[in-house]
Amino acid sequence: MTLAYDDVVTRYEPVIGLETHVELGTVSKMFCGCSTEFGAEPNTHTCPVCLGLPGALPVVNEVAIESTIRIGLALNCSIAPWSRFARKNYFYPDMPKNYQISQYDEPICVDGYLDVDVEGTTYRVGIERVHMEEDTGKNTHVGGATGRIHGAEYSLVDFNRAGIPLIEIVTKPVPGTGALAPDVAKAYVTELRNILRTLGVSDVRMEQGSLRCDVNTSLNAPGATEWGTRTETKNVNSLRSVERAVRSEMIRQAAVLDAGERVFQETRHFNESTGDTRPGRSKEEATDYRYFPEPDLVPVAPDAAWIERLRTGLPELPAARRVRLRDSLGVSAEDMQQMTNAGVVDLVAATVEAGAAVGEARNWWLGYLVQEANSREIEAAELPIAPEQVARLVVLVADGTLSVALARQVVDGVLQTGADVDAVIAERGLQRVSDTAALEKAADEAIAANPDVADKVRGGKVPAVGALVGAVMKATRGQADAAAVRAILLDRLGVSE
Ligand SMILES: [Zn+2]
Repeated sequence: MTLAYDDVVTRYEPVIGLETHVELGTVSKMFCGCSTEFGAEPNTHTCPVCLGLPGALPVVNEVAIESTIRIGLALNCSIAPWSRFARKNYFYPDMPKNYQISQYDEPICVDGYLDVDVEGTTYRVGIERVHMEEDTGKNTHVGGATGRIHGAEYSLVDFNRAGIPLIEIVTKPVPGTGALAPDVAKAYVTELRNILRTLGVSDVRMEQGSLRCDVNTSLNAPGATEWGTRTETKNVNSLRSVERAVRSEMIRQAAVLDAGERVFQETRHFNESTGDTRPGRSKEEATDYRYFPEPDLVPVAPDAAWIERLRTGLPELPAARRVRLRDSLGVSAEDMQQMTNAGVVDLVAATVEAGAAVGEARNWWLGYLVQEANSREIEAAELPIAPEQVARLVVLVADGTLSVALARQVVDGVLQTGADVDAVIAERGLQRVSDTAALEKAADEAIAANPDVADKVRGGKVPAVGALVGAVMKATRGQADAAAVRAILLDRLGVSE
C-alpha cells in the first residue's frame, strides 16, 4: 500500500543531503591535455595518462583548480592552504587505472553554506566539502531491453570522458525542512546550478550529465534520539527528478518503518518513468576503497594572494543579482520568487532592458512562454526566442498592432521558424484588422449568413450576438478586436445595451 505524502510528513521528520557532481568546462582533462569536448567519436580523446598506460604521469590542470576554488568561494567555503589527491581503488571497466584520482580526507574547500528560499522561508544548506576528482569513461550495454548490463549481449566502453575534471559538492545533512524537504532539495540544486552557470565553470547540462545529483534521504521516527538510516539515490538527472526522488524515497521509507522493518543503507536508482526508486548495491564504506595519497601528484597549495585575487574577481552571484533586479524592476519578493523558480529572472530583466514594461515582460515569460518550455520539456532560456523579440511583441500589443491572441500566434511562428517577430507578422499576415469598413463588411456578412441569430438579438437577446462575433472573428482569422466587432454588430442590428 502506498502511503499518502501528507500522512508521512505528519509522522516522520526527513533529513536530506545532496552530493552533486559537476563536470568542469575546462578545455583539457584533469590530469592530461586531452580534449573534453562532448560528442566526439568514441575513444578519440584519449592518451596514455587517461588510459592508465604504464609509466604515464598525471599533471594537475591549473584551470580546474582555479574553477574549484571559485566554486568554493561562491559557496562561502574556507579554502585549504594545502590539500592532496588520493587514490580511490576499485575495479570498473570504464576506469582504466583501476583507481580514481580523487580527494579524500584533505579536500580543497570545506565548511561553507548556500541559502535557498522556499515558500518565503530561507533554509541554510551547509556545504561540507567541495573536492576535485576525475570522471570515469562511459559503458554502453548493447542488445538488452533496458540498456542496462543485465540482459545485454555485449558492452562497449568509451574513454573520452575518462579524466574529465569533476567536482563533487557535498552538503551537510539538512534537517528541519519537514514537508518541504523535496522542494528544498530542488531549490538547492537549482540555486547551485545558477551559481555554477554564473561562474562560467560548467555548462551544467543535467541531461548531458555535466551536472548529476545523488540525493540522500532519511526519516527520523518520532522521539528518536538518532537520525534514521539514509539511502542514496544515484544520478538523478533533472531538477524535477530531484524533488520526485526525495518525495518517493520518503514515502517508501515510511512504509518500511511503519511495518516495523529497518531501512538499509544502500544506493538506489531513480526511475524517471515510474517516479520511484529501486535498490542498487549496498553502500560501500570509505575503508573499502583503500584510499591512500596519490604518489604521482604534488599537494595543491594555492597561495593566499591567488585566492584573494579569485575572490575579488568573482562575478555578481545570483542571490545578490536578484536583490538588485528586484529593486530595479520594482517587483515584489513574491514575484521575484516565482520568476526565480521558473528560471526567467534574467529573461524578464533583458526583456525590460529591450524596452518592454515590467508587468508585460513578466506575464509573457511566466505565462505563455514557460508553458511552451514545459510542454517541450526544456528551460525557458532554451526557447528559440530572444528577450528582444518578446519586447517587440509587448510594444506591438501596446500600440494596438497585435491583439494578445495574435501575439501568441506570432510567438508560435517565431518558435517554429526562428524568424523575427516582424518577419513572422509580414509572412503570415497577422496584423490586427482595424479597418472599420472591412469589419463592417464582415459584420454584414455574418448577419446575412445567420438570420435566426440576428433576429434573436434584434428581439432583445443581446448575449446571442456572441455567435455573430465568433463568425466575424473566424472570417478575419482572429485578427479583429472582439470588442470592436461586437459594437459594430450591435450597431448594425440597431440594438443598444
Ligand atoms: Zn588523456
